[in-house]
Amino acid sequence: MEAGEVDGYLLKPMNCPMHIRIFASEQRSYRDMPVRLAEFGTVYRWEKSGELGGLTRVRGFTQDDAHLFCTEEQVAAEVQGCLELVKIVLRTLGMNDYRVRVGLRDPDSAKYVGDPAQWDRAEAACKDAARTLGVPFTEEAGEAAFYGPKIDFVVKDVIGREWQLGTVQVDYQLPQRFDLSYVGPDNKPHRPVMIHRAPFGSMERFIGVLTEHFAGAFPLWLAPVQAAVLNVSEKSEAYARDVTAACKAAGLRAEADLSGDKIGAKVRTALMAKVPFLVTVGEREAAEGTVSVRPYHDAAADTLRGGMALDALVAGLKAKADARWHPVA
Ligand code: ZN
Repeated sequence: MEAGEVDGYLLKPMNCPMHIRIFASEQRSYRDMPVRLAEFGTVYRWEKSGELGGLTRVRGFTQDDAHLFCTEEQVAAEVQGCLELVKIVLRTLGMNDYRVRVGLRDPDSAKYVGDPAQWDRAEAACKDAARTLGVPFTEEAGEAAFYGPKIDFVVKDVIGREWQLGTVQVDYQLPQRFDLSYVGPDNKPHRPVMIHRAPFGSMERFIGVLTEHFAGAFPLWLAPVQAAVLNVSEKSEAYARDVTAACKAAGLRAEADLSGDKIGAKVRTALMAKVPFLVTVGEREAAEGTVSVRPYHDAAADTLRGGMALDALVAGLKAKADARWHPVA
């Protein structure tokens, strides 16, 4: 910006340069390394309109982005740590069907910048780290970023479609271009290596893939509404409110359908929304302090468990949510 110009705002297309500026803002010693900077950073890219799709390709998205600045000796361990992190994320979400792709440079292409010896070391570090994962991986020439090799997690959803999610990239080039350095044990400046990592990739894309993966029927702990409370008639409306309040007090996401619809219609609406638990209350339940429960995933069997004490319902749902329980996982 020129002197005298008014302040302006810019949309950032990536987070890397800002993290680089943070790293460069103070003198770093080898004792500080690795320096790990993480951010949920919103970025913008002008994708062509024909390439936009749902949540999986959008123009503004938030990356769970991090940049690790380390010494060359630390690269292998840092990459391995990144892979472990992605593994934990995928396992937690029950996405256990994935493969790992190690993207290497294409020796015949001129698009890759940097010293071939550095490339060899970075590629070896990525392959070593992938080997420690205990999952199948493929090495693919020509799949590297122009600045360094990368490791991608390609997840298969329930109907067999593949989605590229988490990614880890080793970068020798940006530290050079931005002239980054740290002071080594020899008191001389040394060039750090930079690792870009995003376990989810972009949050929007990840939510899109997750929604497809579960076909909208999220596990209890992830469902936007965990329990739908349905009253049979006006006479059980007050009790439905009590049940909903008891769920909410326990930290559960419960919503009451107090509309004048018939109970059959309310059940259909909640099933269409794929709410994990349908909780039905009538006059009898109100008098007894109980509920009738129908789990979404048992809906085909039309299971309706009546006569459950309200306390038992709340405790049961809470325990299942805390344990990240999922009937199909
Ligand atoms: Zn980056």
